This record gives sequence, C-alpha cells and structure tokens, in this order.
Amino acid sequence: MQDRPAGNATATPGTPGASEPAIAIERVSKIFGTGAEAVHAVDDVSIAIRKNEFFTLLGPSGCGKTTLLRLIAGFEHPTRGGILLDGEDISELPPYKRPVNTVFQNYALFPHMTVAQNIGFGLEMLGKPKPEIAATVDTMLKLVRMEELKNRRTSQISGGQQQRVALARALAPRPKVLLLDEPLSALDFKLRKDMQIELKRLQHETGITFVFVTHDQEEALTMSDRIAVMSKGKVRQIGSPRDIYDRPAERFVANFIGDTNFLEGEVANLSDENAVVRLSSGASVTAGVPEGVKPAGKVTLVIRPEHAELVPAGDRADLSGRLSNVVYFGTDTHYYVQLAAGEVFIVRQQNTHGGRDSFKEGQPVGVRLKANAAQVLKD
Ligand code: ATP
Repeated sequence: MQDRPAGNATATPGTPGASEPAIAIERVSKIFGTGAEAVHAVDDVSIAIRKNEFFTLLGPSGCGKTTLLRLIAGFEHPTRGGILLDGEDISELPPYKRPVNTVFQNYALFPHMTVAQNIGFGLEMLGKPKPEIAATVDTMLKLVRMEELKNRRTSQISGGQQQRVALARALAPRPKVLLLDEPLSALDFKLRKDMQIELKRLQHETGITFVFVTHDQEEALTMSDRIAVMSKGKVRQIGSPRDIYDRPAERFVANFIGDTNFLEGEVANLSDENAVVRLSSGASVTAGVPEGVKPAGKVTLVIRPEHAELVPAGDRADLSGRLSNVVYFGTDTHYYVQLAAGEVFIVRQQNTHGGRDSFKEGQPVGVRLKANAAQVLKD
C-alpha cells in the first residue's frame, strides 16, 4: 500500500514549492546479477519523502533498505525508475555531486586526525576557505556538544562520541538530505536511547531531511515522522508511527511491528472506512479498513494486545475463553487467553502501583475489545 493521497506530496516538474517532496523515488528497481542469479533488491518502489522530515526505512535484514539508501546517495544506480531531489532528476549524478551526505554504521572516521579535523575534512575537500571551515567546525562542535574534545584524536574517544563526530562531519557541508544507515547499532542500550533523542534534536535544529535505515521497530516508532515498512524489496506500507502500529494494512507489517493478535471473521456490513465483522464467537466488531480495500467474505482482523481488556467471564465480553498463562513484566502484565475457537489471544494490561491480580490461571475469562481496536488486513 502506498501513502494516502492527502499526505503524499508528488513531484510536479517545473513547479518548485513547498508541496514538492525533498526526495521523490519513482518506480525504482535495483536488480543485482542476471538470469537465475538475479536478486531484486529493490522492486518497483515509489516514495515521496517530504522536506524536513525524519523518514525511516524499516524492515528485516535483506529487505533492500540499504540498497535504497545507496541509490539515493548515488553509490548504486537504479536498474529502472528515477530519483528526484527537489524536483531534479539526480539518478545519473555521482555521489559527490549530490547535496546528500551519509552516516555509516561504522562511522568511518580518520583515527589519526582530531575531532575538529575530522569534522572539517569534507569542507576542505570542497575547497572552502579556512576561516569559513573554522567557523563551521565550531558551530558543528556546539551542535553535537563536543567543544571540549575538539583536539582529541578520534581513536581516543568513546563510541557515542565517535558517533557525534560522524554526525557533525556529515552535517558540516549543510547537505539537503542526511542518510543514516543503522548509525546507532554499535552503541549499547543506554547510549542508543540517548542518541535517539540527540538525533531527533539535531534534525529539528538543522531542518535537514533525514532518511534513517533500521531493522529495529522500536527505534523507528520513537524517532520517525513517517516510516516505510519494507520486505523483499517492496514497500508494504508508508505512514506515521501511529498509523503503522494501530492500522497495519498487511499481515507482514502487523507481525513485524509489535505484538499482535489475529482473529478470523466474516464481513457482515461495509461502510466507507469501517467493516462490521462477525467473529466465530458470535460477537460483531467494527473494524477499520485499509485504504482502497473493499473486504468481503472471510477476513483476518488484527488487534493489539493493549487494545483489549480482560473481564470476568460473560461480562459483556466480545470473546470468551480460559486464562492459560499470566506473565508479569513489571510495567504491565500479559494474559494469554485460550479462546473457545482454539486460538490464543494476548491481552496486555498496565500494572498499577499496589494493584493485585484478580485473575487466576485456569479460570474462565472474557475479553472486551476497546473502541477502534480492530483493523481488517488486506491479505
Ligand atoms: P541489512 O539490514 O542486513 O543490511 P538490507 O535490508 O539493508 O539488509 P540490502 O543490503 O539492501 O538489505 O540487500 C537487499 C538484497 O540485495 C539482499 O538479498 C542482498 O544480498 C542483495 N544485495 C545487496 N547488495 C548486493 C550486491 N552488491 N550484489 C548482489 N546482491 C546484493
């Protein structure tokens, strides 16, 4: 599913303006190798990335996200399709002629140079005057909060500090677009969380369009304005983190992002945006419908565990079953309900301070679905 029309700025050649996307990826495919060996790394992908957007390419290993990033950077050329930057076709431009910079997973800093020399390196290559380089390096050092370490060699600073230098170096020439290929993956958990906030701040303060690649769904949900979920070279869904999480359109997206319950049912009634679906329990549930889809007959519903509530058996429940397992996670508790129809349905409830568990394993229970909890899947 591609983006919703209302939110999807499309490139109109010859009419530059606010509605023009920063990057328009138009029906791009990249095939490596030929014949039986051919790998469709990117398969007919179209995305319009807006100006000043924090846009994330999310997907499992091998789904094509790095290849797509390399196509934007110019390290690869599309087999088919075009890439426009501010309305201009850049598909054939070499990387150094694109107003785009990349931060790599391994930072690729020069260990024998100081922090300041690393940050100024790209500007020197561009032949900028020395006073201008010095002023920009100072600004960048402040931006990434590394003023005090500017004369240290990068071999003598920590991983998180190296990451800041790599970011400062990539931001120094003021690119229109910054590409980030899993830049936080080498950091430990705590530092990674700090750098997520730091990256958001940098993007906000510089106003540069960020295209971020990750396989970590939580990282994508917390940092992005919009996310493209990819699998097998294709974009499966584009939307805000909330759209993607609450309204996954396909089974792959629902499964890849967060924990999910699937329920089978049959469409009883259909309106513009909703379907009334009858479950095997006899309950009727109103479910959202992905754009452009007209479901009929048997369908699968997706329901997030926290969008349901555990209730005593029979208490206006949409589903009924037996509580098979209770798992305490500190912040919340997961209840596994073996439904009468056979499936296991997970309910996640937040724990309250001093609260006590009133449900016991083995007892009959009901599950009540919250309003707008259900979504029909396309597949
Ligand atoms: P990861 O998260 O593991 O980096 P990814 O989603 O970034 O994965 P890509 O690196 O874009 O995936 O690779 C997509 C597919 O293209 C994979 O099957 C990969 O093996 C293949 N591929 C990538 N680069 C090449 C290449 N130069 N030659 C042949 N196949 C390639």
